Amino acid sequence: MVDSPSPATVAVHAGRPPHEADEPLNTPITMASTFVGGGEREYGRWGNPTWQAFEAALGALEGGRTLAFSSGLAAVSVVLDLVGQGAKVIAPAHSYNGTIAQLADLEARGRIITELVDITDTAAFVAACDDAALVWLESPTNPALEVGDIETIAAAAHEAGAYVVVDNTFATPLLQKPLELGADIVVHSATKYLAGHSDVLMGALVTDDDALYGVLKGRRDLLGAVPGTLEAFLALRGMRTLHLRVERAQANATELAARLGAHPAVSDVRYPGFGGIVSIVLAGGALAADLLTHSTDLWVYTTSLGGVESTFERRRRWKSEPATIPDALVRLSVGIEDVEDLWSDLQQALDRLP
Ligand SMILES: *Cc1c(COP(=O)(O)O)cnc(C)c1O
Repeated sequence: MVDSPSPATVAVHAGRPPHEADEPLNTPITMASTFVGGGEREYGRWGNPTWQAFEAALGALEGGRTLAFSSGLAAVSVVLDLVGQGAKVIAPAHSYNGTIAQLADLEARGRIITELVDITDTAAFVAACDDAALVWLESPTNPALEVGDIETIAAAAHEAGAYVVVDNTFATPLLQKPLELGADIVVHSATKYLAGHSDVLMGALVTDDDALYGVLKGRRDLLGAVPGTLEAFLALRGMRTLHLRVERAQANATELAARLGAHPAVSDVRYPGFGGIVSIVLAGGALAADLLTHSTDLWVYTTSLGGVESTFERRRRWKSEPATIPDALVRLSVGIEDVEDLWSDLQQALDRLP
């Protein structure tokens, strides 16, 4: 037995069948809507061996028990449903726009009260925790790439008796482990880095609290926001190389952030110093940003992020993006290609901007 294997080893080995004669190396895709009665699964909405393999692997990486969902936002909705009628939820002002949209929808229907706070202002965030029932954190934020002090905010939130939730989609468990920083629940859009190949929609929740796991599993069973079996297989297949992809994307992002910062067409670069996402603001405004995202060969103009291929978009093209995100901000999801190829493609497009 290897004592406390490193994340790279866990990513490769967790969630596999036992090393026994004739066992497959990979957990197969189990297509089943129902299972023979008398066991733990019974029905396909309550469990599936292929999801469970994915859940075992992500749980081992994050340090808790995992529940797989049909998408990141399905997982988000189950968490936001934890709080009682009229409860206060605090979240970063620049949370993922789908999370902001869910908060706004719940508030408009009188379900909750939402307070959006600048996550970089730790004192303001801590002060807001006072009467909160749930404290939502996302760090780094999408797409502003702000970083919050999770440990300090989590301690204040717990003092107020609030749940602490961290959306760890950008950092992945390889760069940040929120449960160790005090979070009760970790949220993932597995669609992004975990699956990593732009071919799967899936979400996940991780918790190290057994009672909370039971509550969340109960909500998933009730609501039925469960993933497809092929999706779970592909997400786990993707996670086998998570450490290599994150390492390479981060190395590329670090290099590109430095070069972008030196280019006259770029007025601001936001890079938190880790991860594969870089946001830039174009000196030429929104038009320059739109021109850039339509002037490359390799970089793909598209939404989403965390795939092996480099992609980018001007975020404010979405009406749902907060107005405090600069109009000319382009979010780059740096892939694992050769960094010189990525740069020459970006550079020729930047050089041609008016
Ligand atoms: C994409 C994303 C989500 C939503 O996940 P889906 O799988 O698209 O539903 C949630 N949080 C963050 C930070 C994201 O980037």
